[in-house]
Amino acid sequence: MTSLSFFGGTGTVTGSRFLVETGQSKLLVDCGLFQGYKQLRLKNRQPLGFDPAGLDMVILTHAHLDHSGYLPALVKQGFRNSVLCTQLTKELCEILLPDAGRIQEADAEHANREGYSRHHPAQPLYTEHDARRAIRQFKTCGFGEAQDLPNGLSVKFLRAGHILGASIVQLDLGDRRIVFSGDLGRYNSPLMHPPEPVRSADYLVVESTYGNSVHPEGDPEDLLEDVIRRTVQRGGTVIVPSFAVGRAQSLLYHLNRLSKSGRIPVVPIYLDSPMAIDASDLFCRQDGGARLSKEEARAACSVAQYIRDADLSASIIADPQPKIVLSASGMASGGRVLNYLKRYAPDPYSTILFAGYQAGGTRGAHMLAGADQIKIHGSWHKVRAEVLTLHTLSAHADANEIMRWLSGFEAPPRKTFVVHGEPDASDTLRHRIQEELGWDCEVPEQGQRVELA
Ligand SMILES: [Zn+2]
Repeated sequence: MTSLSFFGGTGTVTGSRFLVETGQSKLLVDCGLFQGYKQLRLKNRQPLGFDPAGLDMVILTHAHLDHSGYLPALVKQGFRNSVLCTQLTKELCEILLPDAGRIQEADAEHANREGYSRHHPAQPLYTEHDARRAIRQFKTCGFGEAQDLPNGLSVKFLRAGHILGASIVQLDLGDRRIVFSGDLGRYNSPLMHPPEPVRSADYLVVESTYGNSVHPEGDPEDLLEDVIRRTVQRGGTVIVPSFAVGRAQSLLYHLNRLSKSGRIPVVPIYLDSPMAIDASDLFCRQDGGARLSKEEARAACSVAQYIRDADLSASIIADPQPKIVLSASGMASGGRVLNYLKRYAPDPYSTILFAGYQAGGTRGAHMLAGADQIKIHGSWHKVRAEVLTLHTLSAHADANEIMRWLSGFEAPPRKTFVVHGEPDASDTLRHRIQEELGWDCEVPEQGQRVELA
């Protein structure tokens, strides 16, 4: 009996965990952290629904924490076998997972200090040490190479675009093939490859992050140019809260083009985030992992001065000269960007430019909704700066791009499962797939188990 169970990534874009069971094998595809609203985050503390020690392998589509961030907790609970992914996914996990462990430790410490945890003492979900231990279980596989697994199974990673190392996972179980789309990238990204077409699958698990929307048209460089020009003209600073992986590199690419063509004034550009610097370094080392060559990546990254040192960061914050600063986190939920917001959010001459989706409940969402003050590190700060968002840099396929990828199948899968979306996004995509392609399609529920006949 072969079955597929959905233990996360249903009704939400986070916590992707899909369990494939055959008579002899148990494989988990993705092992993500639930993120965002509190009721989602609490799921990270609930029983998994399967025994981690009984898993033969974890296969990762890509390194984003909503796909990989629960792995150290899985290892902590007894998972001792291999984690299989592409080389660049492994290298990104080496940057992201220990950092996630450090944040978990800091949060637990903070909860104990403030006394607000229901658990006494509060325990981190996992530590930096747990994360490093999990990374020792990683094994890698190249794109397009069929990798044999025990019990007659085999797996192949195809390019998904999206971020470095991101893959579509094709799992062959004897005479049945299950394909997991992972997170699909864009067709026209200057940085990343487009998602590779898949010709056939018996069962398909497809993401639907933007299943109900189409990205706005427009050149991000036009908006960046306008915002930077007017902010610098009035003597202000542009602060860009940016996701460390993917978004920061994409911003550097566009800033470098604007700078080289003289479209923006000459002011210092800083990348002030150790994690974004590590991710940029990886981008400059990759060979063929992106559409941009490593030489082009190096040229793009050279537009900014890298700031690792915290004292240097403090002196840049204090310097009143106009400048452009990219710093994490992307939703201003933590990280060094908070120090910049304390100084520049109250400054009416400066601009806070958000560079992507702001999840509900985050500081970024509050600021974009027009909040006139924000709380940072326990104190309130006025928001007088210009606040706006750059919508056009998404690393995710929109609804039309997902449909374009699906049109690459030569025959309909026996069944298609729509996952990794808010309820409306998943259901809208399900409806489109049924109407436009005529495929048998459903949106599975959390905990649902499906027999694959
Ligand atoms: Zn992703």
